[in-house]
Amino acid sequence: MKIIDRLNEDRINISFEVFPPKTDAGFANVQRATDEIAKLDPSYISVTYGAGGGTSKNTAKIASHIKDDLHVLSLAHLTCASSTKEEVREVIRNLKELGIENILALRGDIPEGMKFPDGDRFHYAYELVEEIRKQGDFCIGAACYPEGHVENEHKEDDIRFLKQKVDCGVDFLTTQMFFDNDIHYNFLYRIREAGITVPVLPGIMPITSAAQMKRSQELSGTVFPRRFLALLDRFGSSPEAMMQAGIAYATDQIIDLLANGVKNIHIYSMNKPEVATKIMSNISEIIKC
Ligand code: FAD
Repeated sequence: MKIIDRLNEDRINISFEVFPPKTDAGFANVQRATDEIAKLDPSYISVTYGAGGGTSKNTAKIASHIKDDLHVLSLAHLTCASSTKEEVREVIRNLKELGIENILALRGDIPEGMKFPDGDRFHYAYELVEEIRKQGDFCIGAACYPEGHVENEHKEDDIRFLKQKVDCGVDFLTTQMFFDNDIHYNFLYRIREAGITVPVLPGIMPITSAAQMKRSQELSGTVFPRRFLALLDRFGSSPEAMMQAGIAYATDQIIDLLANGVKNIHIYSMNKPEVATKIMSNISEIIKC
């Protein structure tokens, strides 16, 4: 089944994300975490793709496991910046053979030291979207950035390029993490005005430690509101307290989104079933309402 068909149903959809192991030795741990997350009956589980393409086989393997053994919809991420066009085509062919119908098409970060644009590569995600469309009947998701993408100084350009990407055949969008819902509502207003009409899943990242916050900030350039910084300041030195506070903060964001009419939410669960389980328990009655 295609994710877009699920998103178009009249229901609340909560999805989760896992990342594949870097080595085959780590596979069992990731599989265990994925199995636990699948018990929460998510609308789908997405599997990230290692920036250098090194984990591509494990992405496909975990995505197949989710679909075939756990009977949950799976979404395989795919990046193109650090692979040749032929390597990317090979991954798409493999996903097709495995019966994986849903792909999140991403450019990926430019590897350090790589001159870009460079050689026989797809330079932007919209080119990857076009390629996937050519190769089969996939449901295609793509990324968007409520606070603007870090490489782009002008938010208007970012939205113009997003519209170009969506027009190439994107079925739905997932946002980069954000910690202030007003930024998301403002972004939704601006992209709808620009004529982007596909479903947009806000991406919620539960931050459960100071180290994770630092990593998230470096990765996404997101702004942490004072309300979040106060939690970190007060509870950051106690792992247990910070875990509880981070889950409460993410829950609060999710409840506010649902209260404001958002139907589909993606949770960056980061191979942590205990975090995913607590959040689902916090919203169990709300998502039935
Ligand atoms: P693009 O849509 O190609 O945009 C990249 C930049 O180029 C933007 O600044 C955009 O404004 C600009 N741009 C776009 N089109 C044009 C154009 N025609 N001309 C000039 N400029 C243009 N990374 C991973 O390595 N693995 C993952 O699994 C992964 N999953 C992710 C999931 C989500 C939901 C998100 C939000 C991000 C994810 N990332 C992942 C990170 C992502 O790969 C990076 O943010 C990357 O830098 C941009 O990817 P993109 O697909 O958004 O690129």
